[in-house]
Amino acid sequence: MSIETVSIELRKQLCEIGRRMYDRQFCAANEGNLSCRLSDDEVLCTPSLHCKGFLQPDDLCTVDLQGNQLSGTRRRTSEILLHLEIYRQRPDVRAVVHCHPPHATAFAVAREPIPMGVLPEPEVFLGEVPLAPYKRPGTQEFAETIVPFVHKANTIILCNHGTVSYAADLEHAFWMTEILDAYCRILLNARQLGQVHWFTPKENRELLDLRLQWGFEDPRVSAGIPDEQLAEHPTSSRLWKQLGADRRAFPRP
Ligand SMILES: [Zn+2]
Repeated sequence: MSIETVSIELRKQLCEIGRRMYDRQFCAANEGNLSCRLSDDEVLCTPSLHCKGFLQPDDLCTVDLQGNQLSGTRRRTSEILLHLEIYRQRPDVRAVVHCHPPHATAFAVAREPIPMGVLPEPEVFLGEVPLAPYKRPGTQEFAETIVPFVHKANTIILCNHGTVSYAADLEHAFWMTEILDAYCRILLNARQLGQVHWFTPKENRELLDLRLQWGFEDPRVSAGIPDEQLAEHPTSSRLWKQLGADRRAFPRP
């Protein structure tokens, strides 16, 4: 495929993911933004102040890795700095999805860590989902809040803001946001029923093994985390105190 054909296909796919993101109510009005790499140093992204549900390929912008706009008649999203920080840190990442899905964002607002060891899908496809500190959206300071976690996770909760997920392509990056928000919705429903049943250490290990079989990397393996601590947020729990985060709604037994 020629470079132009790839670019046209990626533009169409980005508009399609925008439509799905809006239809799933992961972004209200003009919220949320999407991007994907066109090359190692050129990124296609959504424009500012445009509903993601009704994007056309010509609405999209391109930027370099410093955020300078290269093409597009509309202004690039102000949150591109977050995407670019991820691309700079992770050469393997080719697509980033940022939005405010209501159930996952409820955890971001409550500063409640995403529980581990409850449901197979988030265990296998997400692993640990860290909480990144709050900074004003659109700033470089905000973009850098993900740096401590970006090599250890592919989905991050942004405190008092929303979520970001990233992968080798847009479809995969979007999935992770979908899995996370569905999981958070189930957790909130289960809590209304009164209790959550947790996996045993052996069951957590089985799901981690399945995650590895599916080809996902997991920092808990290289860190040699024992079975009993797999669901204890080994990557991010040391930062909870300074964020005011704790397992209040979903305390482990
Ligand atoms: Zn946002």
